[in-house]
Amino acid sequence: TPVIGVLALQGDVREHLAALDAAGARAVPVRRPAELAAVDALVIPGGESTTISKLAEAFDLLEPLRERVAAGMPAYGSCAGMIMLAEAIEDPRSGQRTIGGLDITVRRNAFGRQNESFEAPVAMAGVAGGPVEGVFIRAPWVERAGPGVEVLAVHDGHPVAVRSGVLLATAFHPELTGDHRVHGLFVGMVRDALPAPDGAAAPGAGE
Ligand code: GLN
Repeated sequence: TPVIGVLALQGDVREHLAALDAAGARAVPVRRPAELAAVDALVIPGGESTTISKLAEAFDLLEPLRERVAAGMPAYGSCAGMIMLAEAIEDPRSGQRTIGGLDITVRRNAFGRQNESFEAPVAMAGVAGGPVEGVFIRAPWVERAGPGVEVLAVHDGHPVAVRSGVLLATAFHPELTGDHRVHGLFVGMVRDALPAPDGAAAPGAGE
């Protein structure tokens, strides 16, 4: 069973822990570098990305987070977590630093004041069984996606779910819906990324 951390500095941590448990992972909160070192993968929750950035720096977690992601740790970010995984923010607040790793530029609070929070069905590649209920709360969208980035879902013409290798991000909040299919997709990505257990070569390995 993969051990998946949830970055527990600010945001909807409990909801992600519950969704990951329901999707078959062992979920643990991560607040310190030693806790980060002990997980196979990490979820970065929704919340307020400027606060998460500041707390990550204050807790000496930003550099370890950048290093783990750069070294290939699977990570999934929802909403503020998508912003944290983005390489770039359009018109960033001065000094807002991200973890990076995903070759995207995000626009924060992109859907505008009339539309600060809304729900809409979102058809998402890699998630079988029909659209997921997209809960958007002051959500970002993806303004630019690099060549290695797969767009998994679009809303109003803007990418709102993306994947690049072992990194996954959604502008919306599946953790708030009770539908665990997006967390299931991530848990599957983490299982695929983990080394095969001792003695059991992965199918097709060494060919
Ligand atoms: N608007 C928030 C930010 O910029 C994200 C909102 C959310 O996570 N629901 O960080």
